[in-house]
Amino acid sequence: MAANAQYILALDQGTTSSRAILVDRFGNSAGMAQQEFRQFFPQPGWVEHDAAEIWDSQLAVIREVLSRGVDGKPVAADQLRAIAITNQRETTVLWDRATGKPLANAIVWQDRRTRERCTELQAQGRAADIQARTGLLLDPYFSATKLQWLLDTLPGARERARRGELAFGTIDTWLAWNLTAGRVHATDPSNASRTMLLDLHTLQWDETLLELFDIPHALLPAVVPTSGVIGESDPGLLGCAVPIAAMVGDQQAAMFGQACFSRGMAKNTYGTGCFMLLNTGEHPVPSHSRLLTTVGWQLGRPQGTVPVTTYCLEASVFMGGATIQWLRDGLGIIGSAPEVEALAASVPDVADTYLVPAFTGLGAPIWDSDARATLIGMTRGTTRAHIARAALEGIALQVVDVFDAMQRDSGIALAELRVDGGASKNDLLMQMQADFLGIPVVRPRITETTALGAAYLAGLATEIWHDTESIESHWTEERRFEPAITSDQREAKLDRWHQAVERSEGWANP
Ligand code: ADP
Repeated sequence: MAANAQYILALDQGTTSSRAILVDRFGNSAGMAQQEFRQFFPQPGWVEHDAAEIWDSQLAVIREVLSRGVDGKPVAADQLRAIAITNQRETTVLWDRATGKPLANAIVWQDRRTRERCTELQAQGRAADIQARTGLLLDPYFSATKLQWLLDTLPGARERARRGELAFGTIDTWLAWNLTAGRVHATDPSNASRTMLLDLHTLQWDETLLELFDIPHALLPAVVPTSGVIGESDPGLLGCAVPIAAMVGDQQAAMFGQACFSRGMAKNTYGTGCFMLLNTGEHPVPSHSRLLTTVGWQLGRPQGTVPVTTYCLEASVFMGGATIQWLRDGLGIIGSAPEVEALAASVPDVADTYLVPAFTGLGAPIWDSDARATLIGMTRGTTRAHIARAALEGIALQVVDVFDAMQRDSGIALAELRVDGGASKNDLLMQMQADFLGIPVVRPRITETTALGAAYLAGLATEIWHDTESIESHWTEERRFEPAITSDQREAKLDRWHQAVERSEGWANP
């Protein structure tokens, strides 16, 4: 490794685009390149990506960000201390080990084609056992039934898999394989824990589940720590070999980028949906509220000591910023998403109006796919400003329900919430969140937490940073929102909200 190797190259492989970000030793972004790739919808409910195109777009943005460089000067590969990978999770790729070519399009996490298989397993009473082993709810979302579908559908695939000719991977694994010209076939526990094939307690592939889904062991990548050098990029790719020092799922990366290192810390990403994680410490916490138990990260340690694993509770709500998109595109009461703030602030309160954004059903902790959105409490005095305000409150109140469930499941009392994502820029929404949760909401200076978290993990493995304390010093607060209502007011608000939620439940299936 060259002495001047000072940058970490973070690869953020998302659902709609591939990005490459240069992060300097102070945790600042020094450059970024991004490229979108195609989405395929071959049938209703199916979503696919071309894995080869994902790799091509990822390599293109790597080359672009390096050649654009910093301060007008290109960055050479020997200036890179490490490569970090963060990625869309659960998306399933199956490829030929000899040619490196995918056997079919990747099945994306959003894809619902294996719903019937999940219903069948549910009917066989397998859900509780699967949850106990993996921390996950039986759902097409996760990789296991997607991989089974590929092996069932592609002629000869299972036989070839048994003979060791094929490889399975989520996107982290696929990128590492391509970066190393096929020398590394590995995944980390944050990604592996989303496959529904990993034993959450031992962090080994679960033989019972492999049998249940008829998945040959020979297909599977090695499970290695989230932070740790797993190999080097092929020298031909960037001009010299660069260590690959982290692989981490996107939500867990954001959690690490928010420096939520200790038990009881939590983050919410306000994007299209809201994505919440609570750090529950070194042991997995089973959920009784239909939340997911998942691995946050595993830090590699010098040989001879045990790697430290951090577990999280995770949940998401479907309609976060998407509720605001609906105000813009469905109702047409705002011209752009940021306009919602001034409109909502033009009235002092919602005048007892509630918008339950169950447009696609309700997720955690209610899980009612038949729920439909409800706008309730309108009078002749109701204006678009009240509706805009009720929409913002509806986002914040759903988040409260999830964190209440997380606190119940874990017995942990939240001290504060760290926030990021597009809609976290909305000050009014953040104030509502603090009010309704009754704890401070804290927005950091850098909200690019996903790439940053991956870079931190790689920097720890390559000694840019020696411990999590030195990373914490880079995390700085931009603004803190303190709760400004009484607990009586909070309770009354939540009570009224729950009345509105009840009215939206089951609507599509009377
Ligand atoms: P994603 O990564 O899911 O595409 P982003 O983090 O880019 O999402 O956030 C975009 C979402 O945030 C959109 O749904 C948009 O409606 C919402 N949004 C953006 N700005 C604001 C704002 N000022 N107030 C409320 N919502 C906003």
